[in-house]
Amino acid sequence: MFEDEGYSLDTLAVRAGQSRSPEGEHSEALYLTSSYVFPSAAEAAARFTGESTGNVYSRYTNPTVRMFEQRIAALEGGEAAVATASGMAAILSLCMALLKSGDKVICSRSVFGTTTALFTRYMEKFGVRVAFVDLTDMHSWQGALDGDTKLLFMETPSNPLCEVADIRQLADLAHSAGALLVVDNCFCTPALQRPLELGADIVVHSATKYLDGQGRCVGGVAVGSKEFMDELVIFLRTAGPSMSPFNAWVFLKGLETLNLRMQAHCRNALALAWWLDEQAAVEKVNYAGLPKHPGHLLAAKQQSAFGGVLSFTVRGGREEAWKVIDNCRIFSCTANLGDAKSTIVHPATTTHGRLSEEDKARAGITENLIRVSVGLEDIGDLQRDLDRGLAQL
Ligand SMILES: *Cc1c(COP(=O)(O)O)cnc(C)c1O
Repeated sequence: MFEDEGYSLDTLAVRAGQSRSPEGEHSEALYLTSSYVFPSAAEAAARFTGESTGNVYSRYTNPTVRMFEQRIAALEGGEAAVATASGMAAILSLCMALLKSGDKVICSRSVFGTTTALFTRYMEKFGVRVAFVDLTDMHSWQGALDGDTKLLFMETPSNPLCEVADIRQLADLAHSAGALLVVDNCFCTPALQRPLELGADIVVHSATKYLDGQGRCVGGVAVGSKEFMDELVIFLRTAGPSMSPFNAWVFLKGLETLNLRMQAHCRNALALAWWLDEQAAVEKVNYAGLPKHPGHLLAAKQQSAFGGVLSFTVRGGREEAWKVIDNCRIFSCTANLGDAKSTIVHPATTTHGRLSEEDKARAGITENLIRVSVGLEDIGDLQRDLDRGLAQL
């Protein structure tokens, strides 16, 4: 009901998708049940043939999961959403539902490492060709496009260098070849960027990050047209990587504060980027909110703010980068991001550690690079936390 009224994001984030039981609960109910009781044998038969749409089993449908799906679909401006057990399960499901042997995928080189592994280790094994291209180089996307191309896959801004790609241009390019553009919108969330409005066909999320926002549950979701989402649903019901109702309930609670949190993450990240940019021990700051960043104007156009993740290089190498990390008392040294708690990580030896030296160099993953996900703590405290290590360099 709230979805069609033209309400703004803040209203949808709190209200969209809720369906109350006859008990009248104010907060969304958690339906922690694996199966459902049929009122009669005839109704059971009708549900199994699909004549009746009631619940059968929680691998197929669950009311709490459905509320989460409807809310995130409303926020992304999509017709439908499909919730999955993790972000990777969302990407796997869309590959299994939409690709067949002989198809080609063009994927940005700067996507989540496990996404790359899914494409190369498994999709290629089943006869899907995968080409990797530079996110911001339209010519390389164009050059890789051919008649077999089915999907273009990208994240913007990228991790960890915060490069920004033009969603509308890439959507037009995909459509010119009859292909689909898939955007992993995990870093921005619909609070900052709505790829479907810019022409993308499908949005995927790791709900584990900002949608939860407090580092509690693993989950994922895909959003798009009813036609594509119906295909994903069939795969999900068959193969089983569906979202736990408990996790869906946690994500529903997370979404209620999504915009408030994202605005606060962005404010803190922008302030931290400006501050880092002035530190003598810092060589370079990668954050699209800084006017000198090459993606600044494009990000200002297609995002409402610049996000909560940034990276920077220190003067020196691994030893200096590790010194900054090890001197932190607030920032948690963990690879997770999108949490109320600030996190810090050394990509070259963790998230991107398995890349060859050549791939690291090409991706800009140098030994002196540090990535931070800026949380909701006080900005002055965060600056002092980083300064403890930086001052020693
Ligand atoms: C974490 C992440 C994923 C994978 O999500 P999981 O929930 O960990 O499976 C995919 N894409 C991006 C950008 C991520 O940060």
